[in-house]
Amino acid sequence: MMSVKEYANDTNHSVAEILKKCNELGIKVKNAEDELTEDDIIILDNTINLISTEEETDYEEEDVIDEAVEDLVEANNLDKSFANSNKKQKLKKKSQIQSSKEEYLSKRKEMYKHKEKLMSNVEEDNICLYKEGMTVQELASSLNVSGTEIIKKVMGLGLMLSLTNPIDYETASVVTLEYGKTLKKEETQDIANFEEYETNDREEDLIKRPPVVTIMGHVDHGKTTLLDSIRKSKIVDSEYGGITQAIGAYQVEHNGNKVTFIDTPGHAAFTEMRARGASITDIVIIIVAADDGVMPQTEEAIDHALAANVPIVVAVNKCDKPDARPERIRTEMAEHNITPEEWGGSIPFVDISAKTGEGIDLLLETILAIAEMQELKANPQRYALGTVIESKMDKNIGGVASLLIQNGTLRIGDPIVVGTTYGKIRTMKDDCGASIVEAGPATPVEITGLSATPSAGDKFMAFETEAQAKEVADKRNILARENKFQKQALTLDTLFASIDSDTKEINVVLKADVRGSEEAVKNALEKIDVDGVKVKVIRSGIGTITESDVVLANASNAIILGFCVSPSNSTKEIAKEYGVDIRLYTIIYKLVEEMEAAMKGMLAPEYEEKTIGTVEIRKLFKFSKVGNIAGSYVQDGIVKNGAQARLIRDGIVVVDTKISTLQREKDQVKDVKKGYECGITLENYSDIKTGDLIEVYEMIEVKR
Ligand code: GDP
Repeated sequence: MMSVKEYANDTNHSVAEILKKCNELGIKVKNAEDELTEDDIIILDNTINLISTEEETDYEEEDVIDEAVEDLVEANNLDKSFANSNKKQKLKKKSQIQSSKEEYLSKRKEMYKHKEKLMSNVEEDNICLYKEGMTVQELASSLNVSGTEIIKKVMGLGLMLSLTNPIDYETASVVTLEYGKTLKKEETQDIANFEEYETNDREEDLIKRPPVVTIMGHVDHGKTTLLDSIRKSKIVDSEYGGITQAIGAYQVEHNGNKVTFIDTPGHAAFTEMRARGASITDIVIIIVAADDGVMPQTEEAIDHALAANVPIVVAVNKCDKPDARPERIRTEMAEHNITPEEWGGSIPFVDISAKTGEGIDLLLETILAIAEMQELKANPQRYALGTVIESKMDKNIGGVASLLIQNGTLRIGDPIVVGTTYGKIRTMKDDCGASIVEAGPATPVEITGLSATPSAGDKFMAFETEAQAKEVADKRNILARENKFQKQALTLDTLFASIDSDTKEINVVLKADVRGSEEAVKNALEKIDVDGVKVKVIRSGIGTITESDVVLANASNAIILGFCVSPSNSTKEIAKEYGVDIRLYTIIYKLVEEMEAAMKGMLAPEYEEKTIGTVEIRKLFKFSKVGNIAGSYVQDGIVKNGAQARLIRDGIVVVDTKISTLQREKDQVKDVKKGYECGITLENYSDIKTGDLIEVYEMIEVKR
């Protein structure tokens, strides 16, 4: 124990300073004579230590800063002592940040280790609620302990907080664990927006679920044959004896493990669903015919799978054919960044024949091995949520929809909301057409009971009561009307605003005129790093921007950059419809510079042309000294001296220049309005003819 005054003396601080610190830290002392407890002293010691390390200055970069100071003084005619004091402050700030950052990071690492240890002896049911922005004092109250105690614990974790400071969730959860309780975040999610809903399932409720697989590839490379042959050979036995029902997906069993295949035709469905935010696929099989090679749709499949960040397995098909060259497929795929495992890459290649069935077992085993590594889990205890795969309207029974259950269990009679409609599950069938009463995670089912037909890619969610479902559906109707479900497309102008702490990469589709520039731009883009956010080129190619580029960009929330290429009007239309931003450039550094500036939120202002007036030339006055003066009449708007102007003859722009002089009668004037006559000369151009028009315009800065 010691008094505030004694402590101040000991530490070379003023009493006022110590009292202020105590106040900030929630230590209850008011006067110099008040006693500090041992706990208080520990807290103060740590805080004071932190302050004194902050005072040490790192002069490592002094030379550089000296130069900068010289420049500053020269440029601004500043008093040198002022500039120097500024420099010291900057250096101090820098070292403070650096040292506290390192210390903070190492303490955090320790904290996570500590947390793991604590987790083992905590009772799950003893729950304490965490609210966003919760302060130290609030946490202390909810744990029924003193604020100082929490400050001390937090300090042990490397953080200096006062009673009124907010405490982050991670730190708070470790502190809570120390009291034998678990901290749960308060539910702030809006269930009506279930596309964004994050399930917080308890670890012990989770069970392994089958992987969901999509097959993509070039037409005629054997998708349909492969899906059929897997299905025929591996169908889960049912009383229907394998009579299959096309519901857009099916499940097979291999060595006791289930795999769900999406069999909607082609990758258009996969892309369409991705574009709508429905990522239902865990693994993509890219099928390539061994007697053919990597074709345009194979390339597209690669781009989509890579952009979606989904593990890939390559099925090299038609290996039964005499002209099959599976090795060549490996070479071609490797050229597309799909390097086979046997070559040191990460992508398994399996040689198969969809026709004879050769290799299909190995393909399934490979899929199951990947699924095992992904540790795919779901909670069968919760109400189901998932995605619509297909739907149709049946004259007799109404809306029929194929659903993939992604989490939870769906049961007959469950109230369900799909898109903006709600209903009750009336009948449910599995992929063999057998009636079932319930279905768990990763199961495809066909249901009836909806009043409308939803769209493929729509999310669904089941609820406990019909009233709940109705309430959610009503709310979703309002949200839909307000366009709240509309995915906000990524644009260069709004790029900075859309970067948040989770953003690691900005997706870009790049098209260039020639291989050389494509490589150069791609390399330059991939070097950009703005505060840890990087550019990911999800497709780069030569040639103009196509509809397929727009579709990929849309599905992957990407921006399209064109270098020395120009999209057709129809592509522009589609891009507009999807809200995909296309940017065209002819200079590499401009492209890179603008991308970088956009990521920093420092895009230069954009200018738009605005016509301010139209002038008709009615008569010419020739002067030997000044050349031709156009006797003109302002048809529309206004003409301003010095404004930009275009001379137009028979609809063709003759010259783009400026109004050089403007006069009324004999006087020079600043502007002339509609309905008046005036004399005009143009800068650097005098071959004016009667009947020509002058379009006067300004460049206006438009808000980004
Ligand atoms: P998709 O367009 O990718 O769905 O291709 P299909 O599955 O319709 O197959 C196109 C053609 O290739 C059909 O005539 C199939 O019979 C044939 N085919 C598919 N897989 C194989 C295979 O493994 N071996 C041979 N020889 N032919 C195959």
